[in-house]
Amino acid sequence: MRIGLPQEIKNHEYRVGLTPASVRELTHAGHSVLVQSGAGAAIGLSDEQYLAAGATLAADAAEVFAKSEMIVKVKEPQPQECAMLRPGQILYTYLHLAPDPEQTEALIRSGAICIAYETITGPGGGLPLLAPMSEVAGRMAVQAGAAHLEKSKGGMGVLLGGVPGVPAGHCVILGAGVVGTHALQMAVGLGARVTVLDKNIDRLRQLDLVFGNRIHTVYSNVQSVEEAVLDADLVIGGVLIPGAAAPKLVTRTLVGRMKKGAVLVDVAIDQGGCFETSHATTHAEPTFMVDGVVHYCVANMPGAVARTSTFALNNATIAHALTLANKGWKQALKDNAHLKNGLNVAEGKVTYEAVAQALGRAY
Ligand code: NAD
Repeated sequence: MRIGLPQEIKNHEYRVGLTPASVRELTHAGHSVLVQSGAGAAIGLSDEQYLAAGATLAADAAEVFAKSEMIVKVKEPQPQECAMLRPGQILYTYLHLAPDPEQTEALIRSGAICIAYETITGPGGGLPLLAPMSEVAGRMAVQAGAAHLEKSKGGMGVLLGGVPGVPAGHCVILGAGVVGTHALQMAVGLGARVTVLDKNIDRLRQLDLVFGNRIHTVYSNVQSVEEAVLDADLVIGGVLIPGAAAPKLVTRTLVGRMKKGAVLVDVAIDQGGCFETSHATTHAEPTFMVDGVVHYCVANMPGAVARTSTFALNNATIAHALTLANKGWKQALKDNAHLKNGLNVAEGKVTYEAVAQALGRAY
């Protein structure tokens, strides 16, 4: 199959859909890969590396779209990219169509086969092509939180790990899912005092088995959240109720009673956030203050570490890319129900129930 890799054009998006190693997997299997010149340059992936992996270079995105049977990307296609798609062409990328009727209409009009990373399921449950970004965001949350505890960033001037003779800071993690678990690993690694809260007791059991008395696991309810947050130097919000807005676990009143100079990192901001005082911010201006508490609410945290995120994403996406190339989309989806769950739009129709419902279209 002829596979195309365009450069991402969304504002401040430096990730890339295929690393040179992924290109090599595809060329090794007999496929050809056309890479837009400079596609990975911003994160140190040079044209020479792509050429060495067996790719050929294209001067621009128009050439990549025109000559490829499958386009591999990271972010949802922008209007000018949608306009370049054609009937029967495979688009393999994040789409997030439910809140985006304009993009959905454009993909319907294109007649392309649109497979969304975020709805592909895994044999063990969960969403394996979303998980790597939660891993990145969870680990970053502690890094960002620790930095913002510094005085110059508005924090109270606490070193999260403490030093001999001075107690470590208290890191409270709301939600023990993918984000929470990875945040916890980093916080433990830095030497923080760590409390993790979840409503899922099995998750708490698993963490207790692994981390023992290095962490405190607490069942999440109004009382326990309040107690933990009031004692916290850093609070990380990583809760998720699938398909719903994040529950507001920390009210405005509670924020007002927190330690001055404490830091909140609301990773769940992409689902509305779990602090009542949160609103989405950007990497250019990541924080704001409410009642003397620093709020870090960046909606696309993995974008800041685009190189790591690219490699993590490719680890999760390449196997299906290879299958789609080897078998063609019809056979690949017939053989794998999990991959089939990724099909959102095909040949001019919405093929994913939740997207059809969100947009009030026939399914
Ligand atoms: P997950 O499903 O793995 O974990 C969520 C956890 O929250 C679950 O263990 C669940 O039991 C728990 N939970 C639900 N209600 C709770 C409550 N009332 N109290 C305590 N815990 C509760 O989800 P995840 O992959 O860890 O993602 C968490 C959030 O982070 C999602 O909204 C996701 O979209 C978001 N996220 C944001 C970014 C970003 O850049 N800001 C990046 C990646 C993920």
